[in-house]
Amino acid sequence: MPNIRFQALRDASNREIPELKTPSSKISDYFGANVFDKHKMKEYLSSEAFAGIVNSIDNGETIPRELAEQVASSMRSWAMSKGATHYTHWFQPLTGSTAEKHDAFFEPTADGGAIERFSGDALAQQEPDASSFPSGGIRNTFEARGYTAWDPSSPAFIIGRTLCIPTVFVSYTGEALDYKVPLLKALSALDKAAVDVCHYFDKSIEKVNASLGIEQEYFLVDTALFNARPDLYLTGRTLFGHMSAKNQQLEDHYFGSIPSRVYAFMQDMETEALQLGIPLKTRHNEVAPSQFECAPIYEEINLAIDHNQLLMDIMDRVAARHNFKVLLHEKPYAGINGSGKHNNWSMITNTGKNLLSPGKTPKNNLQFLTFFVNTIKAVHENADLLRASIASVNNDHRLGANEAPPAIISIFLGSQLNDVLDEIDTSRLSKKIKEENSLWQGIPKIPQILKDNTDRNRTSPFAFTGNKFELRAVGSSANSASPMTILNLIVADQLKKFKFDVDKLIKKGEKKDVALMTIIKRYIKESRAIRFEGNGYSEDWEREAEKRGLANIKTTPKALDALISPKAEELFEETGVFSKREAHARHEILLDSFYKKLQIEARVIGELTLNIIIPAALEYQTKLITNVKGLKEIGLDESAYAAQLDIISRIAGHINTIKNDVEKMISERKKANAIEDIRERAISYDENVKSYFQPIRYNVDKLEQLVDDAMWPLPKFRELLFIK
Ligand code: ADP
Ligand code: MG
Repeated sequence: MPNIRFQALRDASNREIPELKTPSSKISDYFGANVFDKHKMKEYLSSEAFAGIVNSIDNGETIPRELAEQVASSMRSWAMSKGATHYTHWFQPLTGSTAEKHDAFFEPTADGGAIERFSGDALAQQEPDASSFPSGGIRNTFEARGYTAWDPSSPAFIIGRTLCIPTVFVSYTGEALDYKVPLLKALSALDKAAVDVCHYFDKSIEKVNASLGIEQEYFLVDTALFNARPDLYLTGRTLFGHMSAKNQQLEDHYFGSIPSRVYAFMQDMETEALQLGIPLKTRHNEVAPSQFECAPIYEEINLAIDHNQLLMDIMDRVAARHNFKVLLHEKPYAGINGSGKHNNWSMITNTGKNLLSPGKTPKNNLQFLTFFVNTIKAVHENADLLRASIASVNNDHRLGANEAPPAIISIFLGSQLNDVLDEIDTSRLSKKIKEENSLWQGIPKIPQILKDNTDRNRTSPFAFTGNKFELRAVGSSANSASPMTILNLIVADQLKKFKFDVDKLIKKGEKKDVALMTIIKRYIKESRAIRFEGNGYSEDWEREAEKRGLANIKTTPKALDALISPKAEELFEETGVFSKREAHARHEILLDSFYKKLQIEARVIGELTLNIIIPAALEYQTKLITNVKGLKEIGLDESAYAAQLDIISRIAGHINTIKNDVEKMISERKKANAIEDIRERAISYDENVKSYFQPIRYNVDKLEQLVDDAMWPLPKFRELLFIK
């Protein structure tokens, strides 16, 4: 049988770079060309309709029916002028990817002809047969109704010949079945709480938006090599593979010159993304070989997340034209860096002020300190929830695995700001201050932090970087809405508490600024434990964190407990972000997907070892046996074939161990499958089934090193990582 690996290697080495078509040499000529944004609405709508829709977008109000009718018909005209024939509601179910179901604009008429139609109703609402999307028991299959409803704050766009309308996805009984609904609720809670707090400083502020810039890491691999690795195409990661002799030890890939095939892919992907209004700005090589990163300019958070979801989709699609596969898995290759998705987050007022940007005047600094310290306090109080929001089977390979943020949530501030907080913490704030000026003197001067001066600490899961916080522990394939819902929610809740605390002091007769400073000082003290400036990868930190009482939960099934703790239930109910039923449903969905992914990996390991790896090893072993027999036959003594004998018996040893371990793994799987409670089942998969993966892999990788290269069936790490 021809070896598929060599066929793939031949294909991968002979690729031609496809010709690139850019609409224009100036990006501004085509940025957003495929988006029905405000400019296009203005062009296609009457001026009253336009004013109405802008009002709905800006204030999150429902769009009146007549207006929906007009918007739908203008959207269709625009879309048809760009060649669209179909439309779809585009939504983010809890599977983690995006979903769409296309319907044609065309409708047959009574006289046997046809017209193109798109009604306001079709724009506003659709009823996908939703029975096979995860719902965590919220929706029984027999009442499979769920509906999608237009989210006007995210503009419609065209992909191929389909008009895509961003929507929320809810059950017939109103429960959220997607990532968008809770995010929008958390954002509105943050808006309200932050505006209230802003009024201590500036009464004219009417709205606070969270902003988000997502850095996306990914790997590329040639399609032919990818297709020759069933583990990659079935699980997204390699389950075997001996480390390439050269990997990332020379640190020669990071920011290096981009290989030309990859460069062509990036340009092509950027052209598509830019036309869809995704403001991609940055591209570079990442640390691991064949690992790369792209990042857009930050946007309003709901849009930024839609754009990231869309971007992952575009990357995949464009990669196919270049014979690449994009690996978004958090850990496609053991032994080298995995991929994350840094979430750069801040809060910005309708007056354009970034609340996390240190100001020039002491008064601004008090405002900055307020939001800065409240964020720290929120994370301190709810680190468990933030940890749960980034938990997944894939991310378990990264968190705490020495080259990604640890599973311990801590905050890095950089020495300057750390000193500022320490100074406030230890200074004595005189309650007797009468003169406003002397209070201002009590606030340490906060240096205008220049971006280049911010310390870089790549080991921190949550770092302050100049004028934003950067949550780095998010997995590369995750939907950022999950951690961002939690982050915005806990900050909203914290700001509410802050206002309550400050107002209490003011009511007692305290001057406003003194009251603010008093509470800030108290929060700094109370959240001291979460701040850590050192090396997050070190073992010392694990010990230190334990002393500080910080949680270090390394695996998903246990990390997820935080989602249904009494504390979380109260927080969710109070802010309305999740009902108890929704929180429990999500908990169940996450556990379900956790164990099922391990189940698939375990099955793939079983199949590949028994059907591909062991047969290849046996073939080589047989060749050696023939060789030994021949040498014996011509009269040589044992010393002449001692090496062969040694290899023959080592191969036998590894094969036996693999087969035994696979059988034991299968029996553990059966035991786990029989466990009724889903949390216990997930834990059993994690502790009893997954624990066989590494020992099996060890022996497979040993075989890879022993067997004749010409007979090894799976593309090797050196080929996956270095052929481009
Ligand atoms: P790095 O962290 O690698 O130095 P950048 O400084 O370029 O990268 O920023 C990374 C991301 O942070 C980009 O998407 C950028 O637009 C975003 N960003 C910058 N300022 C803010 C902000 N105030 N709020 C949210 N995101 C921001
Ligand atoms: Mg960054």
